[in-house]
Amino acid sequence: MVERKADLGGRTPEDLARLDAAHVWHPFTPMRQYAGTRAPVIVRGEGVRIQDAEGRWYFDGTSAIWLNVHGHRVPEIDAAINDQLGRIAHSTLLGQANVPSILLAERLVELAPSGLDRVFYTDNGAGAVEAAIKMAVQFWANQGIDRRFVLGFTDNYHGDTLGAVGVATDDLFHAPFLGLLPGHPRVPYPKRFRAADSDSALQNSLDAADRTLRERDDIAAVIVEPVQGAAGIIPSPPGFLKGLRALCDEHDVLLIVDEVATGFGRTGTMFACDPEGIAPDLLCIGKGLTGGYLPVAATLATDRVFDAFLGEIDEARTFFHGHSYTGNPLGCAAALANLGLLESLLPQLPGKVELLAAELEPLTEHPFVGDIRQAGFMTGIELVRDRATGEGFAYRERAAWLVTDAARERGLLVRPIGNVVIFMPPLGSTPDELTEMTTILREAFAAATPALEELVSG
Ligand code: PLP
Repeated sequence: MVERKADLGGRTPEDLARLDAAHVWHPFTPMRQYAGTRAPVIVRGEGVRIQDAEGRWYFDGTSAIWLNVHGHRVPEIDAAINDQLGRIAHSTLLGQANVPSILLAERLVELAPSGLDRVFYTDNGAGAVEAAIKMAVQFWANQGIDRRFVLGFTDNYHGDTLGAVGVATDDLFHAPFLGLLPGHPRVPYPKRFRAADSDSALQNSLDAADRTLRERDDIAAVIVEPVQGAAGIIPSPPGFLKGLRALCDEHDVLLIVDEVATGFGRTGTMFACDPEGIAPDLLCIGKGLTGGYLPVAATLATDRVFDAFLGEIDEARTFFHGHSYTGNPLGCAAALANLGLLESLLPQLPGKVELLAAELEPLTEHPFVGDIRQAGFMTGIELVRDRATGEGFAYRERAAWLVTDAARERGLLVRPIGNVVIFMPPLGSTPDELTEMTTILREAFAAATPALEELVSG
């Protein structure tokens, strides 16, 4: 009892819920509706489970929103952070260096697609994207060339800062900001699941990108997600990144690959670029970099990009950009420990990915499941009103929440995006744990069926 009180900061679960409602403004959360959800207040984690203030344990089926790798309280990562804490928690990278950030940069350069020899640290994925966009524009500006637009893809997501939102504008979510955004061009992403033919979706997308690059001489870079995560897990077809690399070479624009969500084993390989055998000019990484422990992200750049920022002081070629916690030693130490463990985990991933696919397959029979999409450990199960037409539920019907609420009651935390239930367990989940989680998920879909039927008939 004493231990539980300490866990709760000396408060009761009810106190914490009340204080949360009174003071904490949650991200991406409609706050009026949140009040009624009795959201779990997390107290501790152990492996792939997390416990709430009431003492209930749940599987962490979102990997703490797509970033946890080996589970929680991993002895090696805990030890690396404690060890670093015994030296120093933070020192700045502005004009000085620290040991973990140097060692991590060396390791990242070894692991990343070849040629990405420079590491610029930030502390979240959007920050890594902002840095990449600014680097791309300044890369040209430093050569006296005015190219200020970035070509992106429809339904992309690169984070929530204004620059990142500028290359991935959503008319609904970003309505108040539309006047502040620069109107970067976008072309269709090759959506395999809705296109009758994946080859034609791929070709149409590459052709559209090619046309834009041909027509405009103000494009600094192309930015792409190898798998569109926030759009509902849309894996791009094989050949897409390779095709984009070729187009960028042909038109001499930079290629920014945003691997914030896909990096560090999430799609089954270290980076999603790896199977395509390509290297971007700028690579954005974050989320899984520290195993899901601490906020470290980075933008990796080639020497070609980096060299454009060298010059005499009065030439002002410097990248005048940075954050207070850039290169945080605790975070970099966690990342080094995570990468050490990830090496032995990577060979186990293909078997687990196959198991996941087999476990989710029965859901194809569910009367309201329109599509199941998977890229490694990223899975999205899309609900539809009508399987024949593919017609979706309206946003306000919150259909996918019926499933995720049922999963939570059964001990699995998952979160929908629109009509898509996103299931993204930690890579370190054992086969038994994956089976337990997917069993709960299937039960949750079954439990939600009557309410979904009611939505359709009502
Ligand atoms: N880029 C991609 C592809 C993402 O999926 C995300 C987050 O989900 C981000 C960038 C933004 O990362 P962060 O939430 O750490 O700012």
